[in-house]
Amino acid sequence: MRILLVEDEPTLSQQLIQALRESGYSVDHTDNGRDAQHLALGESFDAIILDLGLPLIDGLTVLKNLRAQGRKMPVLILTARDGWHEKVAGIDAGADDYLSKPFHMEELLARLRALIRRATGHASSELDCGTVRLDTKSGRVTVDAQPVTLTAHELKVLSYLMHHQNEIVSRTELTEHIYEQDFDRDSNTIEVFIGRLRKKIPPELIETVRGLGYRLNNTN
Ligand code: CA
Repeated sequence: MRILLVEDEPTLSQQLIQALRESGYSVDHTDNGRDAQHLALGESFDAIILDLGLPLIDGLTVLKNLRAQGRKMPVLILTARDGWHEKVAGIDAGADDYLSKPFHMEELLARLRALIRRATGHASSELDCGTVRLDTKSGRVTVDAQPVTLTAHELKVLSYLMHHQNEIVSRTELTEHIYEQDFDRDSNTIEVFIGRLRKKIPPELIETVRGLGYRLNNTN
C-alpha cells in the first residue's frame, strides 16, 4: 500500500514518514500543494494524508482539484487545532476523514487502515483468504493459524493482493503500489516476490492470469 503524505512541517513529516514506513507502507512525501497535486494526479496511491495549510496551493484546493479530476482515493486531512470550520470545508470538498493537530500516531494509523479497508470493501482489520490471514494492524500473516515470516516487500505484495481479492492485479499495478517514486522499479522483481510468496502460502491461492497479471482467489 502506497501513501502520499503532504505536510510542510519538517519534524511532523519525519515522524509520519517513519511511522508509516514502520507500518509497512510505501510513502511519498511532499511539503507543498503544487507537487502534491502533480503527484496525486500522476501516480498511484492507496490513500493521501493531506495537511490543509500548505505553501503554493492550499490543501483544500488540492483536494477539490483531485475530486474534480475524478480521483477517488481516500483522503485524510490534517487540520489545525479547533479548526472545526476547516473540517467542515474539508469534508464538503471530498475528504473521507480528518484529524486535528496534535494527534496520536496510533490514531492516525488506525484511521488510515480503516480508510483503505473501506475503499477496498473490507469490513474487518483482519483479511482472510482461504487459510491465509493478514492482520493489517500488526502486519502479521498466518497460514492455518501458524505464523509465516515475510520480507517487507513480500508483505507489501501480499497485502495489496489481500485487499484486492478476486481481482486481476497487473504487475504494473503492483509495482506502482508497493514502490515509492524514487525507488528503482523493475516489474520483473514482482514475479520474484510472487514466486517466494507461493512457497510461503498455499501456492494455488495466487493464480497467474496469462498476459494480465495475478489474482488472489478467495473461494470462501
Ligand atoms: Ca501546514
